[in-house]
Amino acid sequence: MYDKNNIFAKILRGELSCRKVYEDKFVFSFYDINPKAKIHALVIPRGEYKDLVSFITKASIEEIIGFFNGLNKVIEKLGISDDGFRCIINNGHNGSQEVPHLHFHILGGEKFGRIV
Ligand code: 5GP
Repeated sequence: MYDKNNIFAKILRGELSCRKVYEDKFVFSFYDINPKAKIHALVIPRGEYKDLVSFITKASIEEIIGFFNGLNKVIEKLGISDDGFRCIINNGHNGSQEVPHLHFHILGGEKFGRIV
C-alpha cells in the first residue's frame, strides 16, 4: 500500500521544497538533503510506487522506459557519465529504505570503495 503522505510524494506535489536536478513526464530528480558524496541526487518516478519491487511488478512498459530515459538525462546533467558513479536502491526493511517512494540514489564526484 502506497503512503500518499511520504516526503517524496509531498516533494512531487510541490508541498515541500527541494533542489531540483531534472524533471519530465516520468521522472523527478533532486539533490539529497543529507548528501553521502560530493554529488548525491535522488531520482524518483512520478507514479505511486513504494519500492523497486512495486515498480517492476506494476509499472507500465512506457513508465519503465520513461523512467530509465529520465535517469539517463539526470546522469548527463550531473556530468558524471564519463568518470562514473554509483547507483543505490534501498528496498524495504532489510534494505533499510526510509522513504516509501521508490528512489535511485546517484552518487558521484569521487571514487568509492567496493561494497560488492
Ligand atoms: P533511503 O534510506 O530511503 O534509501 O533514502 C532516503 C534518502 O532521502 C536519504 O538519503 C535522505 O537523506 C533523503 N531525504 C529524506 N528527507 C528528505 C527531504 O526532505 N529532502 C531531500 N532532498 N532528501 C531527503
